Amino acid sequence: MESKKEIKQPLLEISDLFASTENLTILKGVNIKINSGEIHAIMGRNGCGKSTLSKIIAGHPSYEITSGRIELCGNDIEPLEPEERAQSGIFLGFQYPIEIPGVSNLEFLRVATNARRKFLKKDELDIFEFEDLVKEKLDIVKMDSAFLSRSINQGFSGGEKKRNEILQMALLEPKIAILDETDSGLDIDALRIVASGIKKIANEQSSIILITHYQRLLEEIQPDFVHVMADGKIIKTGDSTLALELEKNGYEWTDEFINKN
Ligand code: ADP
Ligand code: MG
Repeated sequence: MESKKEIKQPLLEISDLFASTENLTILKGVNIKINSGEIHAIMGRNGCGKSTLSKIIAGHPSYEITSGRIELCGNDIEPLEPEERAQSGIFLGFQYPIEIPGVSNLEFLRVATNARRKFLKKDELDIFEFEDLVKEKLDIVKMDSAFLSRSINQGFSGGEKKRNEILQMALLEPKIAILDETDSGLDIDALRIVASGIKKIANEQSSIILITHYQRLLEEIQPDFVHVMADGKIIKTGDSTLALELEKNGYEWTDEFINKN
């Protein structure tokens, strides 16, 4: 336990966020405040708006904020393009990582890392310096360096794609990383590696939002807060025991929060 009181700095603050796509309102008043170093889990039935929330934070062009605000370190992020958000420290891991044939994983990681370093006013890394940095980080995800010379995610197994995502996160040193169902499709060993990678990165520098359906990942990574979403809103917040309760009781009780109109 900490003896002296720490003053926590709000890192990401979402206030009364409404958002829509193609005239369909999906987020209906989301409030969430994340301080630096915290791990938050977001859970909820399929279709309640979890992925939409993460895409809106990252700046996905298909979704529109109709009211409310998202602030990163006190600054409204709405005017920022997706790549500016990434450079300023927002990282989104995808539920279904894309494959990009013809672009080597190493080169992609180097370009992304240098863009972030430029923003942080750190020196950009040449190919040799970058290889040294990557080799250091490969150990976090127990990945073989052979993966670096392959095309991005092409022919990677589900577990390898997810580990590659955690490698990206380790290199980019985001302020806030949003991991959308990073645990889906992982076997137990891959899940442990991914979980320990996330924990290591969280300890070092980042706040994390974990979107997950399963208690299993949350046993490995104890979140500070668990939020339950239904119908585009956060309807309940608790500590890590809330995830256990959900595992036991399911999500049926959340249906009463669905606005039928
Ligand atoms: P979750 O990740 O919680 O399963 P999503 O955020 O993916 O939920 O989706 C929330 C709701 O919004 C769903 O009903 C989904 O069909 C709808 N939705 C999301 N994106 C779009 C889109 N681009 N066009 C139409 N409907 C969408
Ligand atoms: Mg989703």
